[in-house]
Amino acid sequence: MKNVKLKSSPGSAKPRAATAARRTTRQRSVYSKAEVEEIFRRFSVQRPEPKGELEHVNAFTLLVAVALSAQATDAGVNKATRPLFAVADTPQKMLALGEGKLRDYIKTIGLYRNKAKNVIALSEKLIADFGGEVPRTREELMVLPGVGRKTANVVLQMAFGQRTIAVDTHLFRIANRIRLAPGKTPDEVEANLMRVIPEKYLYHAHHWLILHGRYVCKARRPECERCIIADICKSPEKSCDIPAPLVELPPQVIPVAG
Ligand code: SF4
Repeated sequence: MKNVKLKSSPGSAKPRAATAARRTTRQRSVYSKAEVEEIFRRFSVQRPEPKGELEHVNAFTLLVAVALSAQATDAGVNKATRPLFAVADTPQKMLALGEGKLRDYIKTIGLYRNKAKNVIALSEKLIADFGGEVPRTREELMVLPGVGRKTANVVLQMAFGQRTIAVDTHLFRIANRIRLAPGKTPDEVEANLMRVIPEKYLYHAHHWLILHGRYVCKARRPECERCIIADICKSPEKSCDIPAPLVELPPQVIPVAG
């Protein structure tokens, strides 16, 4: 499957474009309600309390880690942010550190110059407009430099416990590959996932699907023989019909940077 460039559609879309977007979100899942329920029931048994893999110590460091993770691995981000967050875990300390020193901490991460600029700018804005606190609404988060809809959704879910679905490359691939919530853009997939996933599973759905995509339903070749939903899956790419044993796994896999 081709890599898809993930970009949220701008909030200022014209009425006609918005109507068209609403129409395209109606692409149907190929699963019945009972099948979707069973898919997420199994994910919930496998990982009752899934966790994200980006290390952070508060909402601000989570926001920074997610912003740094675009086009980078969680392992690479964690390696850089461990020493960074030891010295700068608030917007004030990040500003005191300054853009030059911040660049040194994160220079192993792709696009680090631009990301350093954004982290300094968002720290300034947090202090100027939000009293140094990370805001709790998507609209407010998305006015911060370098923060798009996906980053805002991750922060709302992980830091503030809100039911959001951040569509990253794994969720986009799985939703389309297994035709659970097909969509041409991340926003369409997000809307469709929010519609088909039962309410009680929404809070953890993002992490279940990320972990499933990262370690089982992989981009190049899905490892269907290790998949707990292989009997339900309706993907044309499926290579096995027998589900893997449903056993509880750790809530996260701690990635190790090379
Ligand atoms: S059966 Fe294969 S294609 Fe379907 S969800 Fe599992 S790993 Fe992905």
